[in-house]
Amino acid sequence: MKLAIMGAMPEEIAPILEKIGTYTTTEFAGNRYYEATYNNVDLVIAYSKIGKVFSTLTAATMIEHFGAQKLLFSGVAGAISSELKVGDLIVATKLSQHDLDITAFGHPFGYVPEGKVFVETDAQLLALSKIVASEMGLHVKEGIIATGDQFVANEERKNWIGSTFGADALEMEGGSVAVVCDALHVPFFILRAISDAADMDASFSFDAFLESSAKISAEFVMKMVEKLG
Ligand code: SAH
Repeated sequence: MKLAIMGAMPEEIAPILEKIGTYTTTEFAGNRYYEATYNNVDLVIAYSKIGKVFSTLTAATMIEHFGAQKLLFSGVAGAISSELKVGDLIVATKLSQHDLDITAFGHPFGYVPEGKVFVETDAQLLALSKIVASEMGLHVKEGIIATGDQFVANEERKNWIGSTFGADALEMEGGSVAVVCDALHVPFFILRAISDAADMDASFSFDAFLESSAKISAEFVMKMVEKLG
């Protein structure tokens, strides 16, 4: 089985590469892809660069070019739910694109014809994450993640995303990775550790907690990998 582990930024995959130790590096379509075998699982690891377009390219490349059969995303997000504090983990049950808007034609936010507002994540990977969470003694929230090409640092926008999509957290890649995996029938899992509250202090909080939160998410994902071996 070949498993993809993806992040958006270097900080999100650095702890994973460190844990794996040795890997080969391949340049493809403007990104570096790292390949290794870990616990009998063949891995392809990459960070996409930020946003929906780059993450679409990377997810599709990992599946179509590198042959990944499952995909795990590890990274950081802004909290919408007041239950979520910096360092807390959220696993997506489903994802939407909060900036996709052809509502002028009477469609709901996040919808285009032949698409869907929400893309659901894989039930088996979700179930596995529950086992890992209990073994690690961690509380991991399950919820809806909304994705868009915006760093949200605005209470009003954050609340709108929360009420429009019922979202608990927001970020910039999960929804597009979900579309790719869904279309290609690849089971996928999106995990995020909170780096900020998507409010007026978000950029400061993000800078302060990117590394520590990315590490929390990466550690959890590596436990999932160990279970998949
Ligand atoms: N500081 C970076 C930009 C980070 S963009 C730079 O200057 O290069 C934010 C990244 O973290 C995205 O990959 C996104 O998925 C996630 N993220 C964390 N908090 C977010 C928020 N409040 N809004 C949107 N994305 C957020």
